[in-house]
Amino acid sequence: MSFPIAKPATTVWHADADALIVIAANVTSLGHELDTLVKPYLTVDARMTSKVSLLVNEKAPGQRLFLAPTGPLNRDYDDVRRVYDAAKLAILEAKAAGAVRPVLCVTGVDIDARYQHALEVAYLGACQALWQPLEARESLGEHIEPVQCVFLVNADDALCTRLNALAAGHYVARDLCGTEPERMAPPRFAEYCVGAFSNTGVTVEVINDRDILDRHYPMLSTVARASYAVERHHPCVIKLTYEPQGDVERTLMFVGKGLVYDTGGADLKVGGFMAGMSRDKGGAASVAGFMKAVAQAQPAGVKVVAFLAVVRNSIGSDCFVPDEIINTREGVRVRIGNTDAEGRLAMGDLLSELKDQALKEVNPILFTVATLTGHAARAMGPYSAYVENGPARQANVSRELAQVGDLWADCAEVSRSRREDFDFVKPRTLADDVLSSNNAPSAVTARGHQFPMAFLNIVGGLDKHGSDSETPLPYVHMDIAGSGVEGGDWQHGKPFPATISSLFAKYC
Ligand SMILES: [Zn+2]
Repeated sequence: MSFPIAKPATTVWHADADALIVIAANVTSLGHELDTLVKPYLTVDARMTSKVSLLVNEKAPGQRLFLAPTGPLNRDYDDVRRVYDAAKLAILEAKAAGAVRPVLCVTGVDIDARYQHALEVAYLGACQALWQPLEARESLGEHIEPVQCVFLVNADDALCTRLNALAAGHYVARDLCGTEPERMAPPRFAEYCVGAFSNTGVTVEVINDRDILDRHYPMLSTVARASYAVERHHPCVIKLTYEPQGDVERTLMFVGKGLVYDTGGADLKVGGFMAGMSRDKGGAASVAGFMKAVAQAQPAGVKVVAFLAVVRNSIGSDCFVPDEIINTREGVRVRIGNTDAEGRLAMGDLLSELKDQALKEVNPILFTVATLTGHAARAMGPYSAYVENGPARQANVSRELAQVGDLWADCAEVSRSRREDFDFVKPRTLADDVLSSNNAPSAVTARGHQFPMAFLNIVGGLDKHGSDSETPLPYVHMDIAGSGVEGGDWQHGKPFPATISSLFAKYC
């Protein structure tokens, strides 16, 4: 693993650095004794207010100063992603110039509370830009990620320690999400997790015995049915647990959707809609990434439990088909509506098991994290969509996470769960209890990202733990179909570690 390590620096003239990157809200007012140095360039190059510039100066570390303007920050719709984006552009210029130990400074952004974590966000943006796909590193060598460290002006050791934990989590999430379907087939996904958590406080359990999967996770096994014909595609459930030292005050519990490949199954993705479906494991990748950040930061008072559904939705003579009725762990009879709505099936029984465990934990909050619906991307664009139940809504879980996310360039929109969502999946006959999906693409289905939460709520047994129950359990479904890959380009875009920064900043 070779993301650039965050290290503290007290000055932009840091002696060990080989380049200076200045992210600036206003390039005519930089502070740090930089203005006189930059002034002559401003008079001859008007582009400096709008793009990254390289200024050669013998005072600067490595004689290189990269000046990256953020653009306007003060309008209602500006947020810290302007800093994130500027840092991405600047670090790529510095890398191309040959820098491997840049010092990074963010200046002039103390406009209001929106930019309170601008330095941290700039560092995370740099890490995002520098990451290269796992397959590329394995075939070309680790040197394709040459930047070793980033010195952060005015950061201290404690901040850098936290940032390095978060960056490690992001790195794991990108690796797991971004990798092609054979390199990250379920057994190899599990192998990566075992490696990522070896010598940490996180325990890893991999369940891959077919009898156990059939018995405990019948919906996941149904999705995996066609994949059993190919041994290297066999599914697994990965259970990760972090127990803090001392008392537990809060328990975070996750199910992550890890569809290492989604052909759609019998409802095959046709017309060119299959390419990119190796990224359908972004939810499990984000959950594993969050767990990696937790493993490294070792927060007190927080226990974290994560179940990952790692499975391939293949097509073949034994594949499941619409109209089948599956008896679930929760004792609910699910009628399959469409085999391409497989993520909710893969996660449902794990959510039911997690719910049983939650009843024995301290202050639990349950989450499902998934690239679940095209509708989430259609409705929200590049934002995660949070759909919560009554107890989570009463506790402000989604709104608080979304507010934190705005400060960490990990933005989300809060959706409501409504009665229409439950009506949409209700049984039509006595033969079943719930319908998994309709047959139109979610993107053209009204409430296409909200109604799957109703399904998950029912098959997870959380309908018995609403605000009206004796034992309410807060539950938030996080659909990252729009946010899990940069630019919404599932085939070629870089994976984005959605939800991790928000969860880490809020709870750890
Ligand atoms: Zn699908």
